[in-house]
Amino acid sequence: MTDCIFCKIINGEIPSYTVYEDDVVKAFLDISQATPGHTLVIPKKHVPNIYEYDADFASQVFARIPKIARAIRKFNPDIKGMNIVNNNGEIAYQSVFHSHFHLIPRYSDQDGFSMHFADHTDQYDDAKYESIAHAIKEQVED
Ligand code: 5GP
Ligand code: ZN
Repeated sequence: MTDCIFCKIINGEIPSYTVYEDDVVKAFLDISQATPGHTLVIPKKHVPNIYEYDADFASQVFARIPKIARAIRKFNPDIKGMNIVNNNGEIAYQSVFHSHFHLIPRYSDQDGFSMHFADHTDQYDDAKYESIAHAIKEQVED
């Protein structure tokens, strides 16, 4: 994709601070550094989002993530945890439409990163869970 910022990073038109690279993925520091060491892992092939991954592509890309996560964890002994985040669609905070995974090392509960999961347990009963699970299950393709 000629107008894709991450494709430009892959082909060297835009510089980046690379932390890992092979024939399948490139990992480089996110310019925003939500926390120190915040890294993006991107497939070298342009795919806009997770829905475009087939099983083989997913196994190739996902297989690279743990070793990059371990390297980030090792670079600073103050790292206590890591959030791995993949945004799909504008509503889900995706701003670059070349699929990517954020590896965000966590240092403390005040390190500048947070996620909020609302708890709506009190609005659900057995029938409602069952109906949603069933509707999704029906859509699963081979
Ligand atoms: P998204 O919001 O799509 O999940 O994440 C896109 C990320 O790309 C953002 O965190 C943003 O900081 C990062 N980003 C955007 N442009 C550049 C760039 O030119 N270089 C680097 N290293 N990161 C970028
Ligand atoms: Zn791209």
